[in-house]
Amino acid sequence: MSLILVLNCGSSSLKFALLEPSNPSTVLSGLAEKLFEDEPRLIVTDGEGKQAGPLPGQGHALAMRGILEALRSRGLLEQVSSVGHRVVHGGERFRQATRITPEVVAQIEACVPLAPLHNPANLEGIRGAMEAFPGLPHVAVFDTAFHQTMPPHAYRYALPEVLYREHGVRRYGFHGTSHQYVTRRAAELLGIPLEHSAFVSAHLGNGCSITAVKGGRSVDTSMGLTPLEGLVMGTRSGDVDPGIHAFLAENLGLSLREVTEVLNKGSGLLGLSGLSNDVRELERAAAEGHTGAGLALEVFCYRLAKYVAAMCVPLGRLDALIFTGGIGENSSLVREKVLGQLGILGFRLEPEQNARTVRGQAGPITAEGSPLALVVPTNEELMIAWETQALLA
Ligand code: ADP
Repeated sequence: MSLILVLNCGSSSLKFALLEPSNPSTVLSGLAEKLFEDEPRLIVTDGEGKQAGPLPGQGHALAMRGILEALRSRGLLEQVSSVGHRVVHGGERFRQATRITPEVVAQIEACVPLAPLHNPANLEGIRGAMEAFPGLPHVAVFDTAFHQTMPPHAYRYALPEVLYREHGVRRYGFHGTSHQYVTRRAAELLGIPLEHSAFVSAHLGNGCSITAVKGGRSVDTSMGLTPLEGLVMGTRSGDVDPGIHAFLAENLGLSLREVTEVLNKGSGLLGLSGLSNDVRELERAAAEGHTGAGLALEVFCYRLAKYVAAMCVPLGRLDALIFTGGIGENSSLVREKVLGQLGILGFRLEPEQNARTVRGQAGPITAEGSPLALVVPTNEELMIAWETQALLA
């Protein structure tokens, strides 16, 4: 068996999955966490359940060492043939998955100003993994790459041209692996050739984005220069008037850093509800009459419905609206509210089917005669494994 190790590095944690690309279930997966705290640890999930143990020390490189040992002790190390790395920002340079060389590392570094929170952690993971697995090919799979097919009228901001040309200020889009995976799966499920398909894909997790995918290529998406633009998210505001920065600075005396913090960490569902960023909790609270929770869900669904309509513009026709991510796959309430506001496009919910489709199930949730809305569970690790395999083949 030839296995691919998929790595997703954050600043203080590192997720991994070991996959056989022709099989959607993982052989082994895990999380190295608290990487810079006193007792960093590794939690590994395999067929027998979860096991937690200490890591040999702090940082990404030692986390990689811990993962290597976890593979070795289970007799899996020899079967690993390559490593696929999730990299958040590839700028305009990376239009597809790319084999990692010292030059590619330097180019990912050059994208750090575009993703100062994410790319440095991704690079730490790459360095650690190349040290731990020196004999294997390593591939970078970028969150932004899938959206590089957007035309200029979708990715350019109406800002002075020099900001684009000299500083790369444009819309890039994120969640590319997820949108790519679910639209491929949807084409497969519907028996439509991908080249002739037209989907709107809504990825609703802690971060939320929506993409118009025509013929398997992204033609527009809601996230922009950073993952802050677009839909309402767990703690991110999504679209706001850009004048809000000056307003908050001049009237509340907030610094740029503080405004960024409010928009990224204190807004969205959490900010609106004053309660939580978790849709499960908001649904419970709203049912018990919590006004903030109810409003947060209304704003979330209304913004999403508006964006679904907007994303139909570049498609011309729609094979299906796809819901995915933790919220899209599980919240029948959110799906009901969104489709309820899309009567103008002819959407009509099939309530029983909608209520039944939760916890990793795929299937249609609309009534006969309605445009199709589908739930398709995402699998970003599998998509990264496919991309890695395809590139190395
Ligand atoms: P991430 O973007 O971190 O991968 P997920 O895609 O797992 O996150 O989505 C996490 C979110 O999904 C949670 O914050 C929660 O709001 C939502 N969620 C998970 N399960 C349910 C559920 N059963 N009902 C409603 N929302 C859910």
